[in-house]
Amino acid sequence: MNIPLLDLGSQLKPLRKEIIEAVTNVVDSTQYIMGHEVLGLEEEVANYCGVKAAVGVSSGTDALLVSLMAIGIGPGDRVLTTPYSFFATMGVIVRLGAEPVFADIDPVSYNIDPGKMAAIIEHDQGKTIKAVIPVHLYGQCADMNLLIQAAEKFAIPIVEDAAQAIGAEYPDGRGSWLKSGSMGLAGCFSFFPSKNLGGIGDGGMVVSNDEQFAEKIRRLRNHGANPKYYHAEIGGNFRLDPIQAAVLRIKLQHLESWHAARRENAKYYNTCFAGTPLLANGMVKIPRAVYENEATGSESHRNYHIYNQYVIEVEQRDELVAYLRKQNIGCEIYYPVCLHEQECIKGKIDFHPMEHAEHAALKTLALPIYPELTTTMQDYVVQQISSFFNQH
Ligand SMILES: *Cc1c(COP(=O)(O)O)cnc(C)c1O
Repeated sequence: MNIPLLDLGSQLKPLRKEIIEAVTNVVDSTQYIMGHEVLGLEEEVANYCGVKAAVGVSSGTDALLVSLMAIGIGPGDRVLTTPYSFFATMGVIVRLGAEPVFADIDPVSYNIDPGKMAAIIEHDQGKTIKAVIPVHLYGQCADMNLLIQAAEKFAIPIVEDAAQAIGAEYPDGRGSWLKSGSMGLAGCFSFFPSKNLGGIGDGGMVVSNDEQFAEKIRRLRNHGANPKYYHAEIGGNFRLDPIQAAVLRIKLQHLESWHAARRENAKYYNTCFAGTPLLANGMVKIPRAVYENEATGSESHRNYHIYNQYVIEVEQRDELVAYLRKQNIGCEIYYPVCLHEQECIKGKIDFHPMEHAEHAALKTLALPIYPELTTTMQDYVVQQISSFFNQH
């Protein structure tokens, strides 16, 4: 059986006619920059996330970059984030001449450890750290309560890297469910094709409950022009393409059902793994939607995880990846190198070892979890993992 990590073809099939029609309409309209499709998507994403404003931008990376630009991050500033994420999270900090600071991750959720993050903020007392970027990795929100408390104390803006988590929800422990991207000053989404809401090319969005901040993002995505050809600020060309917006508006209508299917698939994997000796004997660690208070939190108050990735942890990770690929099962390592260990910043910035992030980079792998994956395929994936362990 051939099981890809992601099968965009099976998602496209039922939508193809509608998508081609929408793209054709943009072509025929000759409105190729901004226009009603971009405005329409912005309104729909703002509604979906329960925020006041949404600004379409060219990519998830640019959503992060323009948010930091709007805050005024530059040389001499430091930005606190996780060492375990896609490179863009750190790349945007360094590109602006600022310095990244890292707090290690929580080994269960793989998200930044809020206690460690808060301790670093407390120690700095708001002197050098001018923004924090929690990442909602794999589709599960970072534990935000403590983080928000610590950041608010020193008026440090929070930029959520929600690239993998549009629609994920965080139980704040006070009876509310908060949508990813709605908890900080800025929430940044990516519409890269492999995200839960993916376009037919690059795209992104910044959401905010601060109208003034959103207005600034709107100016900066268009070279800071206000009015046209007058530049009190310097921005860039960070605009969202209307073809992408048109396609994303169609896909947004299916996002909840895709999340539900991914969550069903995750549940089914969990059941399959529980039916093998691999969990009990500690050979495989499966992902967990966590709660702020792991010991006492009820199951119904766990993170609403949208499983952009289903990531397991095994000791012989590289051997298992090679084995699965030989059986035509797609799998991927997100991410093999921590941010603080990337070549481009080596020697330039001093970092403490990040025990849990470094462990995750060595031991985790992502299995296929896309909505159209069948239980037969999942049975096969778990069978193949079992047979790997029988042979090793
Ligand atoms: C995908 C991703 C980005 C970047 O998004 P692009 O649209 O590819 O620029 C940033 N951060 C995280 C965590 C991501 O997964």
